[in-house]
Amino acid sequence: MRLLIVEDDSLLGGGLRAALGKAGFDVTWVRNGNAALDLVAIEAFVAIVLDIGLPAMDGLEVLRRLRASGKTLPVLMLTARDTTRDKVQSLESGADDYLLKTADMEELIARLRALIRRSGRAAGSLSVGDLTLDVEAHTVTRSGQLVGVSRREFDVLRALMEAAGRVLTRGQLEQSLYGWNRNVDSNAIEVHIHNLRAKLGVGLLKTVRGVGYTISRDQS
Ligand code: CA
Repeated sequence: MRLLIVEDDSLLGGGLRAALGKAGFDVTWVRNGNAALDLVAIEAFVAIVLDIGLPAMDGLEVLRRLRASGKTLPVLMLTARDTTRDKVQSLESGADDYLLKTADMEELIARLRALIRRSGRAAGSLSVGDLTLDVEAHTVTRSGQLVGVSRREFDVLRALMEAAGRVLTRGQLEQSLYGWNRNVDSNAIEVHIHNLRAKLGVGLLKTVRGVGYTISRDQS
């Protein structure tokens, strides 16, 4: 299970990486918000441990941008200060849980596992109705039948399934494919959606006129 740690403090970052690695996570550690956002745009993590006090862009801003880009993966915020303000702001910004840095590692691991379990990402796969996407094996199956998709189609589908029940704009989808600050052919997303519909049936991926695309959480 790939886990992202965002922490600028060397001692704490190193300690988290060691302990969470030992707990069975495949840990990537970055020290600032931009690096974290770039990575999350292109790689699949089961969860993020995010420090609030980061240089340049603080953890709350990282979290807001992450949620604005349509990413719904669980985020556990870490803070040095035990203040109601930090807690409220974290939860309002889209955090799933909040923990003081003084909490012990066992508590952190337990909370993290609970978040991942609740998010349904534990097995490294996403499911919507009879459609399953295996993030690690990079496969898509529908009713148990393998569906061949390109890498880009897989990424579009993954972004939509991660955000199931919500609408993603074309911009958000472009971002999940190509990361931040890149120029993309303006028709790219439409083409991938068209191809996915040809492979998965037309009813699954819905166009919300003037807004974007969505996949319903409940597929009948
Ligand atoms: Ca810090």
